[in-house]
Amino acid sequence: MARKFKAEVSELLDLMIHSLYSDREIFLRELISNGADALDKARFLGLTREDLAPVEGEPGVRVTVDAEAKTIVVEDDGIGLTEAEAVKNLGTIAHSGSKQFLAALQEGDASAPELIGQFGVGFYSAFMVADEVVVESKSALPDEPAIVWKSAGKGTFDIGPGDKATRGTRITLHLREDCEEFADTWRLQGIVKKYSDFLPWPVLVDGEQANTAKAIWQETPTTVTDEEANAFYKTLSNDWQDPAHRIHVKVDSPLQYAAMLFIPSERPYDLFMQHVDRGPRLYARRVLIMEHAGELLPDWLRFIRGVVDSEDVQLNVSREMLQKTPVVRKIREALIKRILKEFKSITRREAEEGEEHPYAKLWHNFGVLLKEGAYHEHGETRDKLVELLRFNAVSHDDERGLLSLAEYKEAMPEDQDTIWYLTAESRDSALASPHLEAFRKKGWDVLVLTHPVDEWLVQAVTEFDGVKLQSVSRGELELDDEVAADAADLTGLGPWLQGLFDDSVAEVRASGRLTDSACVLVDSEHGISGNMERILREAQQDAPKAQRVLELNPGHPLVKNLAQLHADGKTDAAEPIARLLLDDAMLLEGTVKDPAAIGRRLQALLQSASEAALR
Ligand code: ADP
Repeated sequence: MARKFKAEVSELLDLMIHSLYSDREIFLRELISNGADALDKARFLGLTREDLAPVEGEPGVRVTVDAEAKTIVVEDDGIGLTEAEAVKNLGTIAHSGSKQFLAALQEGDASAPELIGQFGVGFYSAFMVADEVVVESKSALPDEPAIVWKSAGKGTFDIGPGDKATRGTRITLHLREDCEEFADTWRLQGIVKKYSDFLPWPVLVDGEQANTAKAIWQETPTTVTDEEANAFYKTLSNDWQDPAHRIHVKVDSPLQYAAMLFIPSERPYDLFMQHVDRGPRLYARRVLIMEHAGELLPDWLRFIRGVVDSEDVQLNVSREMLQKTPVVRKIREALIKRILKEFKSITRREAEEGEEHPYAKLWHNFGVLLKEGAYHEHGETRDKLVELLRFNAVSHDDERGLLSLAEYKEAMPEDQDTIWYLTAESRDSALASPHLEAFRKKGWDVLVLTHPVDEWLVQAVTEFDGVKLQSVSRGELELDDEVAADAADLTGLGPWLQGLFDDSVAEVRASGRLTDSACVLVDSEHGISGNMERILREAQQDAPKAQRVLELNPGHPLVKNLAQLHADGKTDAAEPIARLLLDDAMLLEGTVKDPAAIGRRLQALLQSASEAALR
């Protein structure tokens, strides 16, 4: 009986068949890697169950070609598929990223073929080269009948009872006319070598082993070539680019483990997606225990790919047990240390290698995660991370290169004793902010923080090397003598304004931070900042209201006029001007809550200004 594919599968198949011509050979990589996964699953299940069907001979993946019949068969001795599993796994797309993959295909994104493996749509790549795919499978679980699944990739598939006698899956591809070039042993051997060399299972092409199948991470680090390691990284990560950096360690005591970790050269697409499995592969004595052992690295190192292999980890360890295993915790700590050391040495190379900028690249891709780390970690780890942080500043943008806190501190003039920063939505809005006026006058640099994570970072990192970090928009700044003299004129205006703005600001006072602007909103000493309130609200989270303070520049003509109007008892004339002054302060920081009301007030004021001009 013919069954229909889920709609997204049909769409996907159609796009894959019609848009990916150049990289069709990857179908073999995908089918072999599915076979190896199935072997891993069977081996893993076999650790705890004795009733799995046995394998005759050495388990592996076998590829056979029939040049006459124009067929390719890919067969494994893995876990196999029951009927229900075949319907579910070969008729739908489970992976959450598949929508993105479809979008990449539709937009003709050149990297689409490389994404196939990452998006969990590998099986369907068979239809890029075949106009009929037959899957015969027998589950390794006891008493499961063999099945046959068949499809021409045109919207439907058939499924029924089969006659495969041994456990595993046999996939027969009837090659499309324009893909007959693949019915060639030599060609297929080359493809296996290229993509599947380090799979830990033998892959045989027409009876001959075509891959190395060695555990490269167990080799002595100095003997592994970049070429080998990069090839291994690609099979492991589904990334098509070489990694930017590699960390390879083999340790014998006090713990025994080997790890090969990679820092990708680009940011993986799913870095900020939720519900994605993270963490390196975990092996115990070369047996794959877990595809993603998130327990081995903290979440902020989720961009690191690789493998960890330890004899000290029990073969049948469960995820729950893994969290509680002291060995795992110790390996995790050692890995964090080693990775931070690597980052540090990359910063040194940054200084030496001139044009290359390896650390700037790393920071560009993963700096946000290091900030996340500095927020979450404590003690020595945080200190090391803080040294690795890089910042934009008024004096430094991306083009001039970024600043470390040490460099900022080094450049501070003698009379400056605080590291100042400004959090804002963008660099432009930060640079336009009245908050910077006094700092410009003094010639003090200010760090410009524009990423949401920065608000969290500055809560955790409040000091560097004995110097306090402080926001330019928080708390009261000392008034210099000139400003203090003018401020005396505000004694009447201040309380009146405070009464007027009772529900929007906590205080009105004279400002020590303004030279040109009439007013500015600042955060009070305690509580969340206005920027944090904005970030939380944009993330649809309940945000407590930030306590804002309206600061007035007592020397500014507009403020002086307003004080005079108030002193003369002309509050009717003063009120609309005062309200627009507060609106203006909000406009300047980009946090206007009721633009329509401002529009109305502005029109009323313009009307009276125009009438005054006519008089
Ligand atoms: P992915 O492997 O990324 O999950 P695929 O489209 O390649 O996505 O495969 C879908 C699912 O079909 C797999 O997750 C697996 O459950 C099942 N499957 C595919 N090939 C095999 C196989 N050779 N043996 C057992 N199960 C398989």
